[in-house]
Amino acid sequence: MPLTSRLVSEIDARRDDLIALTQDLIRIPTLNPPGNCYRDICEYLDARLSASGFACEMKRAVGTPGDSEKYPRWNIVARREGATPGECVHFNSHTDVVAVGEGWTVDPFGAELKDGRIYGRGACDMKGGLAASIIAAEAFIAACPDFAGAIEISGTADEETGGYGGVAWLAEQGHFSPERVQHVIIPEPLHKDRICLGHRGVWWAEIETHGRIAHGSMPFLGDSAIRHMGAVLDEMERWLYPLLAGKRTEMPVIPEGARQSTMNINSIHGGEPEPEPDFTGFPAACVADRCRIVIDRRFLIEEDLSEVKAEIATLMERVKADRPGFTYEIRDLWQVTPTMTERDAPVVQSVARAIGKVLNRDAGYVVSPGTYDQKHIDRIGRLKNCIAYGPGVLDLAHQPDEWIGVDDMADSAKVMALTLSELLAGLRTLSLS
Ligand SMILES: [Zn+2]
Repeated sequence: MPLTSRLVSEIDARRDDLIALTQDLIRIPTLNPPGNCYRDICEYLDARLSASGFACEMKRAVGTPGDSEKYPRWNIVARREGATPGECVHFNSHTDVVAVGEGWTVDPFGAELKDGRIYGRGACDMKGGLAASIIAAEAFIAACPDFAGAIEISGTADEETGGYGGVAWLAEQGHFSPERVQHVIIPEPLHKDRICLGHRGVWWAEIETHGRIAHGSMPFLGDSAIRHMGAVLDEMERWLYPLLAGKRTEMPVIPEGARQSTMNINSIHGGEPEPEPDFTGFPAACVADRCRIVIDRRFLIEEDLSEVKAEIATLMERVKADRPGFTYEIRDLWQVTPTMTERDAPVVQSVARAIGKVLNRDAGYVVSPGTYDQKHIDRIGRLKNCIAYGPGVLDLAHQPDEWIGVDDMADSAKVMALTLSELLAGLRTLSLS
């Protein structure tokens, strides 16, 4: 039997296993924050992958944000060596899920199977993708036990809160160095026929306007920081937002609305603090001496971070020019540079060919509007040959009644298995029919 058909039938034969594995993973409530059950899910993966011939290492990211004795940040890296040396293909999935939220009609950790869908928090983001990659690797190993190179599967903490106790930490330990790993696939839910090449950049900053406190009945004796901030917001509407809307990118960002520079004003606080919910009195009459906003600016591969920061500096100086005595501060909170893997990178080409064979259609190429763990693999690991590819509908992530389709998982497991057969060197000489 030709190799492609063999891999497809190996995965079809594992359909019940794929369902049970996904259900088991969903039933471990790895909520983050606070970072629940990381050890449990790593132990589960350890047992599963050890039985499939992987050497497993469990590693706690001691001292990273959120790590404590109560909520330790456990990660697992599993490696299966082939029969001869060669390249390594690494599948990285985050094990954490976000809060359940309101509006569920099923048990969020019940993993109910109904009409070909498995329901639960994390079903699509991204335990379905993790399960698909495990089934793909196991099917590939069964079909080609003498492969060259190595397969790695990692389950990592904290992606939903920045990845510092997960992929960033593993990258700092050298786990994603190009000498060790040559190809990375992150099975985030981008849909089974699309390859996600990277993401836009991020700059978070806090802007504070200063004023002077005085009695609210004589505001002319003080200086209102809130009125200053009003002028800043006005200038954003008048000048900055039209400027951002005019900056278009060549990156194939989805959805279409994100194919430009964007900025969200994340929060605004000024003047008297919000009263406690049980406080029944009135506020004191004061002029606000401080007002702060947090901005969340998403930028394009065509933009430079220094230019993005300079826009805000220019805006603040324009406001200042019109307002005598006005002072302000800008504080950086965090930043991530945009990343986009080239379309001719080996992992992109192999996955694209596998999509063509399994699904009989051309692969779509997309870029994510927000960041994910690829940022750490690129920046700390210095590995460029990295994509996100996995089953599921992105819009369902973080929603009530999140689900993953069993057919979609099986199809993307086939794409992953064919990708393995192409990338793991000893097999490139075999005919892939
Ligand atoms: Zn995710």
